[in-house]
Amino acid sequence: MVTQFKSNGVLIECIQGNIAEQPDMAAIVNAANAALQTGGGVAGAIHRAAGPELEAECRQFAPIRPGQAVITGACRLPNRYVIHCLGPVYGVDEPSDVLLASCYRRALQLAEENGVESIAFPAISTGVFGFPLPSAARIALKTALDALPNLVRVKHIRFVLFGESDLRVFVEALNACTSK
Ligand code: ADP
Repeated sequence: MVTQFKSNGVLIECIQGNIAEQPDMAAIVNAANAALQTGGGVAGAIHRAAGPELEAECRQFAPIRPGQAVITGACRLPNRYVIHCLGPVYGVDEPSDVLLASCYRRALQLAEENGVESIAFPAISTGVFGFPLPSAARIALKTALDALPNLVRVKHIRFVLFGESDLRVFVEALNACTSK
């Protein structure tokens, strides 16, 4: 099983780790809440590491809707930007698959517009928001792969999975999406 894939000069990789500890990436993506405030999971880890300045910077954009993404500075984080995506709550925000794909697509568009060469994503919506991991992984990877022809600035897309079994699911989805 390969954990990375290169096409059109863009590297896509899946690793195990903490999204708030990716110092080599220009942007990290937050699995945000509508209010763009700190919370549990990814949002808690990112806001804790960024400091209270991040909530202050987010205030002007809140609230956001499912499928939307906004970009801010990264405050005390070692990255240049944080891109905040509101994933769908599974079974509530419909169509969930379309809204989840929109998060990844919008985040990559914002990265392009801001000259971001490297971007790290968590598995949006797969925690508190309850999206089943295998379908979320397929949507994440397929959306990234579909975006490749339009990417000029972005050269490196990293999916950061918290747990070993979550990483396995993403790696299986990457292999399924790229083995044609
Ligand atoms: P959502 O509300 O969009 O479901 P969560 O933050 O609850 O977002 O979880 C999204 C995914 O990120 C889950 O799979 C969770 O296990 C994982 N996760 C939680 N904390 C971290 C972290 N610090 N780094 C990377 N992934 C994380």
